[in-house]
Amino acid sequence: MSVLVQPRLINDPAGDPGLYLDFHFGRRAILFDLGDTAPLSARELLRVSHVFVSHAHMDHIAGLDRLLRLRLHRPRPLLLLGPAGFVDQMQNRLGSFTWNLLNEASVDFRLTVQSFDGETITEAAEFRAREQYRRRGLPPPDLPPGTVLREPEFDIRAAALDHGTPSLAFAFRQSRRFNVLRNRLDDLGLPVGPWIDTAKQAMRDGLPDDQVIVVPGAGQVTLAVLRDGAFQSARGQHFAYVADAADTGENRALIADLARGADHLFIESAFLDRDRDLATATRHLTARAAGEIARATGVRRVTLFHHSARYDDYSGFETEMRAAFDHA
Ligand SMILES: [Zn+2]
Ligand SMILES: [Zn+2]
Repeated sequence: MSVLVQPRLINDPAGDPGLYLDFHFGRRAILFDLGDTAPLSARELLRVSHVFVSHAHMDHIAGLDRLLRLRLHRPRPLLLLGPAGFVDQMQNRLGSFTWNLLNEASVDFRLTVQSFDGETITEAAEFRAREQYRRRGLPPPDLPPGTVLREPEFDIRAAALDHGTPSLAFAFRQSRRFNVLRNRLDDLGLPVGPWIDTAKQAMRDGLPDDQVIVVPGAGQVTLAVLRDGAFQSARGQHFAYVADAADTGENRALIADLARGADHLFIESAFLDRDRDLATATRHLTARAAGEIARATGVRRVTLFHHSARYDDYSGFETEMRAAFDHA
C-alpha cells in the first residue's frame, strides 16, 4: 500500500532544522521550517505548496529568499504560515526589496501569509506580484481549533510551544484510508465508478450506517453494507515535527497531544543532558528530554535533529535518547 508522503530532514543533525514532505503523487511538497535549503534542488522547491514555519529565528527562516526568488516569476501560488506576528514579519521582508519592475502585466505570483496563535489562524494576508507585493488583508480560513490546514486526504495541526518566543510544532495526519475489495463489490453486484469516491468521503466524514449512497446502474446501498462487505479501512500516516522548545511540563503536554501514537516523531535536541543548564538557558530540549517525551507519547520511531555545534561527536545524542525512550 503506497504512502501519501515521504518526510525527510533537509539537513544533517548539525545543520538548520527543516522537514521536507514529499508527496508521492501530484508533484507536490510541504515544508516544515525554512532554514538552509542547499540540499534541496530547485525542482524540489518548485513543488512546495505550503511552508509551516515554527518561529522566525534565522536558522528556521533564512531559506525564504531562495524560495521566493525561484517562485517569483511562476504562477503557482505559495502559502506561508508562522506564529503570532508572522504576517508583519513577512510584510517587512517583502518590503525590503525593490519591485518597480512589476506591473499589471507581470506573472501574478501570489503569496498568502498566515499567523497562528496556537489555537486559530488570527491573521491572513495576500501579497501579489501585480500589486508589487503590497499587503492585502484576507479573512482567516475557518478551521477547527488547533488546525492549520485541512484537505480531504490529510490535515495538519499545530501547537504553540514556549521557546522564549512562541515556536510552533506540527503534526501531519493522513485521513483514514478506505480500500475497495473488488471481488466483494462483484458479489454485491456493484459496478466500479465515481460513486466509490463519494462513499469513501462519506466514511471519512463518519456519516451514519444508514446513509444512502447512490450507485448509478445498481440503485442504492447503505454505508453499513459497504463498510461490512466491500471496503477495508486502515489508519493513515501520522508524524510530528517538534522544533525549538523549552523543557516545560506544558510543552510536554502540548507535544503529547500532537504526537500521541504517531508513526514517527522528528524532535529537536540541541544539548546532551550533561549540559541541561545550557538547554534551560536557551530554552531548548536535551536528547534525554526528547527520549522521555517520545516514550510518553507512544511514538514508534524517533529522529533527533538540531544538535548544537559545540559537540565534536553526535553519537551520544542517539544513545542518550534511546536510554530514555526504551526505558519503559
Ligand atoms: Zn529558536
Ligand atoms: Zn533553532
